[in-house]
Amino acid sequence: MSEIFKGSFTQQEPIPEEGIAAALEVMRHGRLHRYNVAPDETGETALLEQEFADLTGARYALAVASGGYAMATALRALGVGPGDRVLSNAFTLAPVPGAIASVGAKPVYVGVTEALTLDLDDLEQKAGQADVLLLSHMRGHICDMDRVMEISDASGIAVIEDCAHTMGAAWRGVPSGRHGLIGCYSAQTYKHVNSGEGGFLITDDADVMARAVILSGSYMHYERHKAAPGPEAFERVKYDTPNVSGRMDNLRAAILRPQLRMLPARVTGWNARYRTVEAGLRGTPGLTVIERPEEESIVGSSIQFLLLGWSETHVARVLERCGARGVELKWFGAAEPVGFTSRYDSWHYAPAPPMPATDRILRAIIDMRLPLTFSLEDCAQIARIIRAEVGAVWQEQAAD
Ligand SMILES: *Cc1c(COP(=O)(O)O)cnc(C)c1O
Repeated sequence: MSEIFKGSFTQQEPIPEEGIAAALEVMRHGRLHRYNVAPDETGETALLEQEFADLTGARYALAVASGGYAMATALRALGVGPGDRVLSNAFTLAPVPGAIASVGAKPVYVGVTEALTLDLDDLEQKAGQADVLLLSHMRGHICDMDRVMEISDASGIAVIEDCAHTMGAAWRGVPSGRHGLIGCYSAQTYKHVNSGEGGFLITDDADVMARAVILSGSYMHYERHKAAPGPEAFERVKYDTPNVSGRMDNLRAAILRPQLRMLPARVTGWNARYRTVEAGLRGTPGLTVIERPEEESIVGSSIQFLLLGWSETHVARVLERCGARGVELKWFGAAEPVGFTSRYDSWHYAPAPPMPATDRILRAIIDMRLPLTFSLEDCAQIARIIRAEVGAVWQEQAAD
């Protein structure tokens, strides 16, 4: 009798009791809006921003309504507007091209490598086509940040990092989000901290942060921010910067603050799960494990592997057979977007020429979440199931 996995791939950990207590406190006093504070009170949102700036080492931090909103705000703060082009990943999630489209700009897609990172040769070729790169560290895979910054500095490109999957990760010891001009993060339920919805934007640039704060809907209460530049930065931009409301509120900030303190322990937990699955998959015929560079400090909240050169029928069979045994795999190669796995050619509002080298890799990418509610034994079992089913279909494929 073959084993069946019983866990849920979408079940995250509960909100820590400390966060629940702080949230109740906010509800009891009723001052949920971030700028609604008692005399001498620093609201939960302003405190959260200070703590997020400390965590990442950034000078300034802004908490906002979502990761997608943080990216759109970053683009607006850099003056990206209708008709502009923005370099971005062909392999990413829909909120990335969505943020570009939301300001009327058009993505110029850069390909993906077998390491699941941005193809830097392709970036070099396309560098002349835009002034901004919205770089998505998709599924936590960080490309060679030294080379990205070399290419973008040489071409005068401003880099915005999408760190939705790299909060807590680093490249050569520098936190993800701290290489480019702006770093954006998500606090949505499936990311590394959970307030249902939420996001962050960090930068060391006073003008960018002053614009971002006003864009986010500050009603000129910028002096209530703690992780922001002084009033002179706001004076320079306040009459030219529109209000596009997308603030974080004190209730969600209260839930997030204890989670930021727990992040290092959570990272350790995710990585133990990641390495368990990785070890269990290594050496499976037909399956390519993604080798992680030693410069990268990872957060293994999800894992990917490749079924390179497999036919669509056989990949679909692997998904079906693993699914029947309780292991929910996602496939970026599916012709139709399913859940979060859409492809660049699914985004008809942002059309692109065909990218055959990228298509070959997208067709091979299999993805799986690793929530902290899984035990290490769960992870070992999941790997055994995938190994067995990939192995069985691999043999069928050889015989067909
Ligand atoms: C989740 C996600 C975002 C943004 O998330 P929101 O749902 O808008 O908070 C951005 N980029 C990637 C790659 C993501 O997975």
